[in-house]
Amino acid sequence: MTDALHIAGIAVSPDHYIDRRRVPSPTGFDLFSPIDRSTLGRVAEGTPEHVNAAIAAAQAAFPAWAALPAEARRDHLHRFAEEIGARADAFCLVESTDAGVLLSRMRHGVVPRAMQNLTFFADHALSLQDRVIETAQATHRVRHDPAGVAAIITPWNAPLMLTTWKLGPALAAGNTVVVKPPEWAPLTCSLLADAAHAAGLPAGVFNIVQGTGANTGAALVSDPRLARISFTGSVPTAKWIAQAAGANLVPCSFELGGKSPFIVLEDADLDGAAATGALMYRNATQVCLAGTRFLVHEAIADAFVERMRGYVENLRVGDPREETTEVGPIIHPRQLERVKGFVERAVAGGAEVLWGGETHPAGGLYYRPTMLTNVRQDSEIVQNEVFGPVLTLQTFASDDEAVALSNDVDYGLGGVCYGATERAAAVADRVRTGFIWVNSFGIRDLAAPFGGCKRSGIGREGGDWSFEFFCDVKDVVLPK
Ligand code: NAD
Repeated sequence: MTDALHIAGIAVSPDHYIDRRRVPSPTGFDLFSPIDRSTLGRVAEGTPEHVNAAIAAAQAAFPAWAALPAEARRDHLHRFAEEIGARADAFCLVESTDAGVLLSRMRHGVVPRAMQNLTFFADHALSLQDRVIETAQATHRVRHDPAGVAAIITPWNAPLMLTTWKLGPALAAGNTVVVKPPEWAPLTCSLLADAAHAAGLPAGVFNIVQGTGANTGAALVSDPRLARISFTGSVPTAKWIAQAAGANLVPCSFELGGKSPFIVLEDADLDGAAATGALMYRNATQVCLAGTRFLVHEAIADAFVERMRGYVENLRVGDPREETTEVGPIIHPRQLERVKGFVERAVAGGAEVLWGGETHPAGGLYYRPTMLTNVRQDSEIVQNEVFGPVLTLQTFASDDEAVALSNDVDYGLGGVCYGATERAAAVADRVRTGFIWVNSFGIRDLAAPFGGCKRSGIGREGGDWSFEFFCDVKDVVLPK
């Protein structure tokens, strides 16, 4: 076992977690905090041997875990959630430090949601048992059998939330799992192993192999013993994983990037829309579902811009551990350079900066909330995901044009539409995305479907949809 890293006084293991044991690695990678680029320590890098050991442990644990009654797995997952709750402060401080997620958001949103991700799916699994379709000819007993070993791969912007979002249904259904956490923010997944251990999860049911995508992740997704790969991340990585998984015909679930429209019709509550619009900068817009393309009716565009400017000017940018901070740092210098590059090229191409457009005086990895206008629909800044606090604003003259602009990108994850309710809902119906909020933003329910169209993903997560993916659905036919 390697010495723990100490993050804000909290001990976090940098090792893998395989078969209920902490496993060190001869190789590792350096981890930095996006808050001030301070060194947090060295984290284990999984070799092919570690990946092999984790999959072997998960395979060995699968028959007994799958054979447990769903009620027993539910009880395990409820205990797991309680152990997360018992470590809530540690999860908050550690993810705020390694991923730069707002501490207030961790406390009030992410940690309660991580617990719910386990308990909701544990409870929901019970309702899947013994579904029956009766016909004149036969009784069809529809079973949801666990598939086997599932690989879970998550991005750095929401490691705890997204890992538990997949872990809950995978384990509740009776699968065993190998998690490969994001290398820029790997530490709350390590704390998850502590919680699982304390909850008494049997050996091999939940394994973690730390490491980079190019080495550890690639070795994991290429393994033919996997039954499922559940991935959230970028489009280029998904294409790579699809090829590796395709070689073994392993089913994949993909939750990918977005370039979601934020539509403001001329009969919208301008103040409500502007206040919600400013929320898009939270977590420095490193949020897949944020509305990043503002499409505003030309008759109210100037008034909307002035209202939103008022909200944006009051946003507090800075250290995410301060309770009052609303916009934290960008995760990595490479990502900051990417953001700057997008803005420079857009301005060189004729874009006008409405606000922001430069690094924040706080220094380090902080960038000012930015809005660009006078942008062409076919330009890079309109078509590509920035994953940083840079939004664009275009105007339209009719609902048809708002829909056309919304749909004229390769992505199709989410959206927001403000306007008189039924009219806004009618526009929302025509926008080709996996979800869209009318006169609101961010309302989620774990039973509802979540995912994207077009290049934003394959499949849906949430409620029954998560179980459709993680299970082999089987029809046992009893003739009458
Ligand atoms: P990324 O694709 O670079 O990495 C995601 C994960 O994949 C990381 O754990 C990484 O180590 C791993 N990985 C990289 N190469 C791999 C390989 N060859 N084989 C296996 N694993 C590999 O994405 P990122 O930069 O960490 O995250 C940002 C992206 O995630 C954005 O595009 C964002 O929109 C997307 N995202 C989507 C959702 C959603 O629900 N749709 C949610 C959050 C983030």
